[in-house]
Amino acid sequence: MNDCIFCRIVSGEIPATKVWDDDNCVVFMDIFPVSRGHILIVPKKHVDNFVSLPVELILPLFAAAQKVATATVRAAGAPAFNLTINNGRESGQEVFHLHLHVIPRTAGDGLKTWPKISYVEDEAVALSAKIKSELEKV
Ligand code: AMP
Ligand code: ZN
Repeated sequence: MNDCIFCRIVSGEIPATKVWDDDNCVVFMDIFPVSRGHILIVPKKHVDNFVSLPVELILPLFAAAQKVATATVRAAGAPAFNLTINNGRESGQEVFHLHLHVIPRTAGDGLKTWPKISYVEDEAVALSAKIKSELEKV
């Protein structure tokens, strides 16, 4: 897609600081990192989001993420990392070409985890029933 910034990085039309490139994926440094070593794992095929990813590309994408995350946190001297996908505008997705974030984490880095909520009464059970019903249609 011509107007997709990550497609243009994949094709080499615009530069990025790449750390990995294979048949299916490219990995590069996030230009506005949450922490030092924040990388993005991007399928070469343009898909808007995780739901649209062909199932046969899941393994190559996550294999690249596992390998490069291992190297990145060692290089960044971080004992931990977050592996995240923002899926949809309301989740914070800004680039609509699927990508995995690897965000190195260190003790006391000041980055927050998500706040928690509580279910009321049988809400979780009711919701699980709806999920199971939807699963039959996916
Ligand atoms: P998301 O909000 O999940 O869509 O994340 C998009 C990410 O892409 C953000 O963390 C941006 O900093 C990053 N980003 C946007 N443009 C570029 C670029 N040209 N090179 C590297 N990272 C980028
Ligand atoms: Zn794209």
